[in-house]
Amino acid sequence: MSLEIVQVPVLSDNYVYLAHDGASGETAVIDPAVAEPVLEAAAARGWTITQILNTHWHPDHVGGNAAIVAATGAKVTGPKDEAARIPCIDRPVGDADTVSIGGSTGRVIGVAAHTAGHVAYAFEADGVLFPGDTLFAMGCGRLFEGTPADMFDALGKLMALPDATQVYCAHEYTQSNARFAVTVEPNNAALAARVGSVSARRAQSLPTVPFTIGEERATNPFVRATSAVELGARRAAKDSFR
Ligand code: ZN
Ligand code: FE
Repeated sequence: MSLEIVQVPVLSDNYVYLAHDGASGETAVIDPAVAEPVLEAAAARGWTITQILNTHWHPDHVGGNAAIVAATGAKVTGPKDEAARIPCIDRPVGDADTVSIGGSTGRVIGVAAHTAGHVAYAFEADGVLFPGDTLFAMGCGRLFEGTPADMFDALGKLMALPDATQVYCAHEYTQSNARFAVTVEPNNAALAARVGSVSARRAQSLPTVPFTIGEERATNPFVRATSAVELGARRAAKDSFR
């Protein structure tokens, strides 16, 4: 494991990540919703941000791009199918392209569903995935621009990663997802256990992210949907769940 990852909580429930390669000194920011706390988190460690990786165009994922570029000269990589909506983009990428943070190589995975050009970044040698708003703990992103079939395919691609992969998603939506998940699978013992540990962490205001692909395989009702139709029904039910 050569990437050092720092979680920066911003806005009401967003997570921005710094990924630092000690050997080269490179530091990437994944989905900077805002600039100031991210620049401060890097400066506090003596790191200089050299690049930005965006997963999709939503403002809470790209809002800090311009100010970080202005402050550091960082280069911006983002989804090619949303390039017109990614501020300061230098390198548009799509499925099967690669990115690098110093000596760590990331594979770009096309996961269009939440948005029409959404990408994820998987640093497989480091065992790390940045899925943006595609995969959450016990949840998945809303289908703003894609179909249930798109999300079924996208989650399938992410679930091809090893169980031990650490997932650094972009929101702390875990408790709401957990409440919904138990209505779908009330008899899933792994889910019940996870809901308990998540509640304990949130009661202490601790993050429930990262988590692992293996945990999702055992407990996430969207990952566990056996068809796109079933996934779509669950997504629709979650959209109106309170
Ligand atoms: Zn989003
Ligand atoms: Fe978001």
